[in-house]
Amino acid sequence: MDYNNIINTIYFSLEKLKKNGEVATYIPELAKVDPNKFGVHITTIDHQHFSIGDANEKFSIQSIAKVLSLTLVYKKVGEKIWERVGVEPSGTAFNSLVQLEYDKGIPRNPLINAGAIVICDILVSSFKDPKTEFLTFLRAISGNTSIDFCARIAESEKQTGYKNVALINLMKSFNNIKNDIDVVMDFYYNLCSIEMTCKELSRTFLFLTTDGIDPISNKKIISESKSKRINAIMQLCGFYDEAGEFAFKVGLPGKSGVGGGIVAIHPNQYSIAVWSPRLNKKGNSKKGMKFLEQFTTKTQLSIF
Ligand code: GLN
Repeated sequence: MDYNNIINTIYFSLEKLKKNGEVATYIPELAKVDPNKFGVHITTIDHQHFSIGDANEKFSIQSIAKVLSLTLVYKKVGEKIWERVGVEPSGTAFNSLVQLEYDKGIPRNPLINAGAIVICDILVSSFKDPKTEFLTFLRAISGNTSIDFCARIAESEKQTGYKNVALINLMKSFNNIKNDIDVVMDFYYNLCSIEMTCKELSRTFLFLTTDGIDPISNKKIISESKSKRINAIMQLCGFYDEAGEFAFKVGLPGKSGVGGGIVAIHPNQYSIAVWSPRLNKKGNSKKGMKFLEQFTTKTQLSIF
């Protein structure tokens, strides 16, 4: 497969599209990012790398990190986590409150904000030093010790995180949050603040293409069954109320973040990360979605 040629063709055809969505402004620090950044990186399971544009520039991965916190908690606690969070697509915005009261404080899935906050609560209960534990895990699976939280972004989120605070309070009222609210939110904001490049992201997600075993280090990150289930959750819930559209147009399990990043995987083939900060109305990267749609069309590689 001539990935280089394919990503070049798509990249330059989309680069011309300038006015193409808006950067997230509800987190003040994200509003400062250059909206025209555009990077793509593919890592294949046989260790090949294909890259274009701003693929080596770090950006705020935001909700993409929710897959990684889920991985650590699922590995540590096992199937019991599903007593506190569901596995159904929400069909609502990433920070929506509406279903929570109806569902008695049990979020629909771990990739919307409410669900990710419950996962953070379980993580806080499970480790003495959750931040260090999470970073150690992330650095191990990415094979990269430079990956870190960004205090500036975490603080910016904290200052404007009114909806997230509403979500955690509502869940606490239903007894689905066991720890101190401030401690859990501190972890959540730090989780969202992690910065990575497209290259680092695509390499990190490789273990989900190969049944939980990282094909580069040969280390078992998570069991085959858990890897399959995380992929299923990404497929159904990775793009909030646009998960159907992503499956329909792209056809890969994936996850987006309001920093404009998207990571998607093709089982037994590759992991791909795209970054373009301009978002559509659902909070997903507009150019990123378009890129991936054309990519799976031209390569004829989707899971369907
Ligand atoms: N930190 C963001 C928030 O809590 C994450 C949202 C996202 O990337 N969809 O609102």
